Amino acid sequence: MERVVNLCKRRGLVFPSSDIYGGFRSTWDYGPLGVLLKRNVKDAWWRSMVQLRDDVVGLDSAILMHPRVWEASGHVATFSDPLVDCKQCKSRFRQDHLPESGACPNCGTKGSFTEARQFNLMFKTHVGPVEDEANAAYLRPETAQGIFVNFKNVQTTSRLKPPFGIAQVGKSFRNEITPGNFIFRTREFEQREMEFFVPPADGPKWFDYWVQARHDWYIEHGIPESSITVRPHDTDELSHYSTGTSDIEYAYPWGWGELEGIAQRTDFDLTQHAKFSGEDLNYFDQESGEHYVPHVIEPAAGADRAALAFLLSAYDEEEVNGDKRTVLRLHKRLAPIKVAVLPLSKNEQLAPITSEIASKLRPYLMIDSDVSGAIGRRYRRQDEVGTPYCVTVDFDSLEDSAVTVRERDSMQQTRIPIADVVAYLREQFD
Ligand SMILES: [Zn+2]
Repeated sequence: MERVVNLCKRRGLVFPSSDIYGGFRSTWDYGPLGVLLKRNVKDAWWRSMVQLRDDVVGLDSAILMHPRVWEASGHVATFSDPLVDCKQCKSRFRQDHLPESGACPNCGTKGSFTEARQFNLMFKTHVGPVEDEANAAYLRPETAQGIFVNFKNVQTTSRLKPPFGIAQVGKSFRNEITPGNFIFRTREFEQREMEFFVPPADGPKWFDYWVQARHDWYIEHGIPESSITVRPHDTDELSHYSTGTSDIEYAYPWGWGELEGIAQRTDFDLTQHAKFSGEDLNYFDQESGEHYVPHVIEPAAGADRAALAFLLSAYDEEEVNGDKRTVLRLHKRLAPIKVAVLPLSKNEQLAPITSEIASKLRPYLMIDSDVSGAIGRRYRRQDEVGTPYCVTVDFDSLEDSAVTVRERDSMQQTRIPIADVVAYLREQFD
């Protein structure tokens, strides 16, 4: 973990937020390479959830929503953790995280806790200049509600019939008492959620389908089978809306932790919003003549914790000819930089071919061009951030009009004519 965090800082993947002020309470900024990695994680999700399917459409709803949404969804009443204060040292803890001894984890005093109080995890703010209750609003704690309140808009305009889904990627906010483990648990985070609306009787079948599909997505993108597991929730862990939830968990360095949750939300949300808004959110099935409120299966994934899991799985150190090589074996689709175009040296004769290849690749693939230092060192720099291919322009290129393409994992080098190299590399990413 330490090594991955160091790599992230050293190579511009992730920085502490407000770094020059000493950071800020478990918030993080994604640097030039990190923003590419996270974007690729979201794009890979979008590709498999929306682009490759004919039964899921996308949505981008606002973070600020009508406050009644959170009353209907149950978040105002129940989205909270029980907190206790130590009367001795004034530290605050989650009651369910206290040690069995009953001693304060901070000062060690026994039996010094206040009664538990419910602490709502939503960030509250005010819309407009007047800070009163009438203008209160919340930063959304999940993207899902933006989907539910748009169910009718989307269903009628896209003319989809259940089973169909609405997918959304976006920021959510939870005032977590104990954030931590780098980008695993943060108060501001990015979600990838899809609400899949089905006829009520088909709920269990689609639940099984999505648990499997989402598990397989992580394997496809480079998480080893041994590092991933599906854990059904016990009944006492279930959210207020759910009749069944399974977490896809990853073997983080500190133990198994959630990557994604797949929940059967039943008709809870649509029924609640129908009640609170007065809008009819039934679906009318013309073939059967039936009116029903669809049931919902929700695969809900964090983009940040997925990026972390991919980084942890990809990180590798090996010995090559007596030297240590650090390599991120990221799936090609997730790698921040796809191709590095490198002249063998700074010699002016190599510059025109290098920049020609670079500018021909640029419209299709994220590329990097690096001229400083020995070629071996530059390969290592690219290995370290997971660049799948390096193209090297050397002095032979001036004679044979060909370049060397080096593959990251095998380090195998192949000579390719300059005329073919753009097509060759594009093919590797199809
Ligand atoms: Zn204390």
